[in-house]
Amino acid sequence: MTINVLFAARQERWDTYERPLKDAFSRAGLTADLRTDFAPAEVDYIVYAPNSDVQDFTPFVRLKAVLNLWAGVEAVVGNKTLTVPLTRMVDHGMTQGMREWVTGHVLRHHLGLDRYLHGQDGTWRPGAPPLAQSRRVTVLGLGELGRACAETLAFLGFDIAGWSRTQKSVAGLLCLSGEDGLQKALERADILVLLLPDTTATRNVLDAKAMAQLPQGAVILNPGRGTLIDDEALLDAVGTGQIAHATLDVFRTEPLPKDHPFWHHPNITVTPHIASETRPETACAVIAENVRRGAAGEALLHVVDRQLGY
Ligand code: NAP
Repeated sequence: MTINVLFAARQERWDTYERPLKDAFSRAGLTADLRTDFAPAEVDYIVYAPNSDVQDFTPFVRLKAVLNLWAGVEAVVGNKTLTVPLTRMVDHGMTQGMREWVTGHVLRHHLGLDRYLHGQDGTWRPGAPPLAQSRRVTVLGLGELGRACAETLAFLGFDIAGWSRTQKSVAGLLCLSGEDGLQKALERADILVLLLPDTTATRNVLDAKAMAQLPQGAVILNPGRGTLIDDEALLDAVGTGQIAHATLDVFRTEPLPKDHPFWHHPNITVTPHIASETRPETACAVIAENVRRGAAGEALLHVVDRQLGY
């Protein structure tokens, strides 16, 4: 029987996804009709971007699951009309992209690259940077992305701690959890990487109190979500030097408004939500596998816990 899959995202995404999605479904041996338009009552699965036109799931009476195209689900997880399972994107292309962004920005600060990029004033300044093992990096969030980044940095020799809701045990990482764990994680963070989801429990996790617990002159990298940081507290902390630099990829309002002080602060670097993204070449196989599982009555991969919000 044909499985009807609605691709509910902006038109330009369909242009990118149509071919790899159809190829992935064919490789998975699925007989599926993949389209951007269906009568709602005929749809079995929705491949979904939360900024699509579909906001009311009520008319989708035979829907089996919604497969989110993005890792973050904060824009859809609270939708009360959605009563079927919601999956989030776990895609090794996206994971690889995040490893590269985080590693690049950690190395920028670890090696003090800005000094050489912006300080060519004819002064010969000897002295090699320290080795990675003397740089303590903490990653908040040890999920798909946080753990991959932490392991990559540990492989390079950095002294790594990770913090998560549930206690983890990962070779080569100091794994922490709970309130006490957060304090320990912050107190040792020369460089802090935020890879938590946006939930009611994580909003403002990095507030003024948390920033004060970081070593003086710490660096913050936020490729997680803008809501993790109290923006005013961050501006204060970079102003006093408590935070030496913050590199931010995600913001409470995106695109970041032109007049936002983050754009103009010398110790804040803005990147435009490009730390990583879902890569159609690898993500389409994940989507097809989930539809195959659903059709076979098997458990879906990467199902979101609606209570926890991620
Ligand atoms: P994930 O696999 O769901 O991992 C989330 C991690 O956060 C888990 O380790 C989880 O702990 C931890 N966590 C959640 N709530 C917590 C809490 N209250 N206290 C402590 N730890 C908590 O998510 P992911 O795939 O790694 O993605 C993380 C986030 O990255 C996404 O939600 C998204 O916002 C962001 N992201 C950004 C970009 C970008 O381009 N900037 C791209 C992709 C994703 P447990 O392990 O105990 O559950």
